[in-house]
Amino acid sequence: MKINRISLKFSNAFLVSDRRSVLVDCGCQSDRIFLEQSLTRLGIRPQDIAALILTHVHFDHCGCASYLQAAGVPVIASSVAAKFLQQGEQEGKSILKAGSKLPFIGRMLGEQARFPPVHADVLVESVLDLGDFGVEGEVRVSAGHTAGSVSVMLDKKQACVGDLMMGGYLGLPPAWQPNFHPLSSDNSEALSQIIAMRESGTEKFCVGHGEVLLARDVDRWIDSQLKGKKR
Ligand SMILES: [Zn+2]
Repeated sequence: MKINRISLKFSNAFLVSDRRSVLVDCGCQSDRIFLEQSLTRLGIRPQDIAALILTHVHFDHCGCASYLQAAGVPVIASSVAAKFLQQGEQEGKSILKAGSKLPFIGRMLGEQARFPPVHADVLVESVLDLGDFGVEGEVRVSAGHTAGSVSVMLDKKQACVGDLMMGGYLGLPPAWQPNFHPLSSDNSEALSQIIAMRESGTEKFCVGHGEVLLARDVDRWIDSQLKGKKR
């Protein structure tokens, strides 16, 4: 299995290639051309992708979903997230909702912070096996960043966790340093999901922002969070 990180304008997408390829997240609307070029460089056409998995419904993760679906790629999302996706509306806390209090953010992001509504093809209630999509792994509901977030657990040791955790902070380095995403709805839930993944042997965390995070850095961060809680 090979996981390629595609570094987009505000976020990462991951092309997971096993017997077939699935794409995890797809950036914002304005990432379309760069995303397509990146896929071409990796030797894959949009129509060859077995599925697009959306970790959650925020504009910087699901912006190209409607374009990929039109190219024939089935879209996988949790049933909770799918309701938002269908309305073209962001789940939970989002920079757009924060933007209504800070109008300059809304103006700065403008149209890129919106996304065309999409009707998900496959809904995840709790766990979905990816075997039918040619990949050894599963999609699991993992609330914390939003109530409808999912993670993609791959070959036991790697996971694409969306914004459950991120590298750096607000895009600031170091990109290898684990952090909570500033717009998560429930940090302690997010932390317990990450702890559970470490306990089940996950060593590499493919996150929505920053670099792929490694077990030793994640463990150090978990320890500091748990110590902080006790104080
Ligand atoms: Zn997010």
